[in-house]
Amino acid sequence: MNLEKAGGRLCSGKRASLPAARPFPVIQKVMASMAHLQKEKLQLQEELLGLQEKLAAQENDELSLSLQLQGQVETLKAKVLEQAQEIGRLRSELGGTDAEKHRDLLAAENERLRQEMKACEGELRELRRQQQQQQQQDPCRDCHHRQENAELQEQLSQLQQEAEETRAKLVELDLEVQQKTNRLAEVELRLKDSLAERAEEEERLSRRLRDSQETIASLKSQPQQIKYIIKTVEVESAKAKQALCETQSRNQYLQEQVGMQRQVLKEMEQQLQSSQKTEAQLRAQIVMYEAELERAHGQMLEEMQAMEEEKNRAIEEAFSRAQVEMKAVHENLAGVRTNLLTLQPALRTLTHDYNSLKRQVRDFPLLLQETLRSARAEISQAIEEVHSTNRELLRKYRRELQLRKKCHNELVRLKGNIRVFGRVRPITKEDGEGPEAANAVTFDTDDDAVLHLLHKGKQVSFELDKVFPPQASQEEVFQEVQALVTSCIDGYNVCIFAYGQTGAGKTYTMEGTAANPGINQRALQLLFSEVRGKAADWDYAITVSAAEIYNESLRDLLGKEPQEKLEIKLCPDGSGQLYVPGLTEFRVQSVEDINKVFDFGHVKRVTECTNLNEHSSRSHALLIITVRGLDRSTGLRTTGKLNLVDLAGSERVGRSGAEGSRLREAQHINKSLSALGDVIYALRSRQGHVPFRNSKLTYLLQDSLSGDSKTLMMVQVSPAEKNTSETLCSLKFAERVRSVELGPVSRKAELASWPSQEQLEGDSPGSAATPGRGHTSHSPGQLSSRSASIRRKLHTSGKLRSVPL
Ligand code: ADP
Ligand code: MG
Repeated sequence: MNLEKAGGRLCSGKRASLPAARPFPVIQKVMASMAHLQKEKLQLQEELLGLQEKLAAQENDELSLSLQLQGQVETLKAKVLEQAQEIGRLRSELGGTDAEKHRDLLAAENERLRQEMKACEGELRELRRQQQQQQQQDPCRDCHHRQENAELQEQLSQLQQEAEETRAKLVELDLEVQQKTNRLAEVELRLKDSLAERAEEEERLSRRLRDSQETIASLKSQPQQIKYIIKTVEVESAKAKQALCETQSRNQYLQEQVGMQRQVLKEMEQQLQSSQKTEAQLRAQIVMYEAELERAHGQMLEEMQAMEEEKNRAIEEAFSRAQVEMKAVHENLAGVRTNLLTLQPALRTLTHDYNSLKRQVRDFPLLLQETLRSARAEISQAIEEVHSTNRELLRKYRRELQLRKKCHNELVRLKGNIRVFGRVRPITKEDGEGPEAANAVTFDTDDDAVLHLLHKGKQVSFELDKVFPPQASQEEVFQEVQALVTSCIDGYNVCIFAYGQTGAGKTYTMEGTAANPGINQRALQLLFSEVRGKAADWDYAITVSAAEIYNESLRDLLGKEPQEKLEIKLCPDGSGQLYVPGLTEFRVQSVEDINKVFDFGHVKRVTECTNLNEHSSRSHALLIITVRGLDRSTGLRTTGKLNLVDLAGSERVGRSGAEGSRLREAQHINKSLSALGDVIYALRSRQGHVPFRNSKLTYLLQDSLSGDSKTLMMVQVSPAEKNTSETLCSLKFAERVRSVELGPVSRKAELASWPSQEQLEGDSPGSAATPGRGHTSHSPGQLSSRSASIRRKLHTSGKLRSVPL
C-alpha cells in the first residue's frame, strides 16, 4: 500500500516537472526509454509488491508459525507445569508422604496399643497385688482361683507375645514402605532428568525462535531500502537499475533466507515432532509409574487392611480374655468376701481361744515349775526304785549263777565229768581188699551207746556214752560236743581227747578236712558266734595256743623256735596254777585267723612215716583255746580253757615194727597214754592223789582235768578185720575209763586196778575181770536193760539233756 502511495506520488511529481510538447526525438527516445523504464519499474514494483506480498504472507506464515510454536511451547510449558503439579500431587498422593502418613498412623496405633497393654499390665499387677493381699489374709490360699490366675497370666503372656509378633510385622511393613519410597524417589529423579532435558530442548527451541524472529525483523526492515531504491530509481534510472540489481540480489538473498528459514522451520517441526514423541514416551512412562504406584498403593492398602483386621482381632481377643479374667477375679473377690464373712465368726472364736491360751501361757511357768517339781520327785523316786531293783536283780543274778554252777557241778557229779564217745571210721581204700578189710564192727539198733566187735570169731560188745557209726557226719559228732564247748564260755575247763590207733580217724575227727572241718574249727566258730551273741553284756577275748608233746618234750607249734623245749611251771603267785613260760598265744577273732593259726601249726608238727600209716602222727597235738570274759554289768571275770588234743597213735609197739628211735617214740607215747588213763581213772574214782606228774600231757592239762572240769574222750576205731586187735584195745580203754564211775562198788573195786597199756594189749575179751570191762557174755537185751537203768539213774537229776556234759 505504501508502495502504491509512493508510486502515486512519483507519477504526479513527474507530470508536474515535464513539459507538454514532445517535438524532440531524443527526448522522445528518452521519454520512451523512460516509459519503458517506467513500465519496467512498474513491473518491478508489481513484482516487488508481489514479493512483498509473498514476504508478507511468508511473514504472516512465519508469524502464525511462530505464534503456533509459541502456543505449542506455551501449551508444552503448561503441560510441563501440569505434569510437575501432577507429579507433585502424585508425590503427595502416593509418594513417601502417604506411606509415611500410614506408617505414622500405624505407629500411633501401635503406641496406643502399647499404652493399652501397659494399662492392662498395670491393672493386672494391681489385681495380682490385691490377690496376694487377699491370699495373705485368705485362709484358702490354695484354692482354685490361684490356678485360674496362673492360667490368666499365661494367657496374658501369650497376648503379649502376639503383640510382639504384630510389632515385628509392622516393622517389616515399615521397611517395605521405605523401599517403595526409595523407588518412587528414583522415578522422580528420572522424571526430573527428563523434564530438565525437555526444558533444555524448549530453551533451545525458543532460542532458535528468537533467532528466527530477529531474522524476520531484520528482513522486515529491508523493504524500506527497496522503497528507497525505487525512489532513487525514479530519480536516477542508472542508480535505479543498480539498486534494482542490488534489490534483486537482495531479494535473492532474502529468498535464500526464506528458504533457510523454511529449512529451519522444517527442522524445528521435526524437533517438535521428536519432542512430542519424547513427551508421549514420558507420558507413557508416567502412566506406567502411576499404574505401578497405584498397584503398590493397593497392595499396601490391602496389607494395611489385613494388619488392621489382625490388630482388631488381637485387641478383641485380648479384650475378651481380659474381660474373662476380670470376671474370674471378680468372682474370686466375691468368694473371698464371702470367705471373709464366714471367717469372721471363726476369727472371733480364735481370738477367744487365743486369749484363753494367753492366759494359760501366763500361768504355764508356774504350772510347769509345779509339774517339774513333782516329776523330779517322781523320777528320783523311780530311779531309786530302779536302783534297788537292779541291786536286787544283781544279787539274784549272782545267786542264780552260783546256783547254776552248783547244779551244774551236781549234775556233772551225777553224770560224770568224764564222758567217753566211740567213733568208728568207714572202711577206706587203705584198708585194702579181701578178708582183712572186712568189717568187724556192728551196732545195736536199739541203743546208740553200744557196739559189737567180732574178734577172733567171737563178738564182744561194748557200751560207751555214745557211739558214732561210720556214716555219722562231722556235724553230728560236733552236735554232741558243742555243749562242752560252750560251757567253756561260762568259765569251765574242758578237755577233748581223740584216742586211737594210727589211722583210726583221730585227726579227721579233730581237724577234719578243709571242706568238712572237725571239732577244732567248729568249736572256734561256735565260740565266736556265742561270744557275739553275748556281746551286749560281756567282753570276751579268745586266744589260741598250739603245742606238741613229742618224746615227753613240750614244744610251741606257734613259736618262733619250735625246736625249743618248754617247761611247765607253777605260777609264782602261789595260786597253784600251772603255766608254760614262752608258749605263744594268738588272739583270734575270725575263721580266717584260725585258719592261719592251724596252717602255721601244721607245718611244724612232727610227723614220721611208719609201716602202719604213712602219715602217722607220733606226737600229741594240743590246741588250747582260752576264753576270757568280763561281765560289764557286774565286773565278773571268767576264764575257760578248751583243750583239743589229737593224741598220738595208741598202737602197740610190737605191731608197728618200730625200732631204735621209733621204738623210743612208741614207748613214750604208750607211757603218756597210760598216764592219761591213770589220771582219768584217779579223777573219776575221786582218789586223793591224782598222778598228773607222770607225763607231760597230764601235767600240762592238770588244770583242765581236775576240779569241775569236763573231759571227753573220743575213742576212734577202725572197723577193718585186720585192725580188730587194736580196735579191741582202744574200746577196752574206753570202757574202762567210762566204767570207773558207774557205781561206787565198782569204783572201789577198780581203785587200784587201772591197767597199763601193756595190760590192755594183753587183755582178752573173755578175761575181763570187772563189770565195766569188755563183756563178751552180755546179750544185747542185757546190755539194753543195763544202759536203760543207768539212764534212769541219770534222769533223776532232771536235766540230763539240757545241761552241758
Ligand atoms: P589218725 O589221725 O588216727 O592217724 P586219720 O584221721 O589220719 O587217722 O584217718 C586215717 C584215714 O581215714 C584218713 O584218710 C581219713 O580221711 C580217714 N577217715 C578217718 N575217719 C573218717 C571218717 N569218719 N569218715 C571218713 N574218712 C575217715
Ligand atoms: Mg592223726
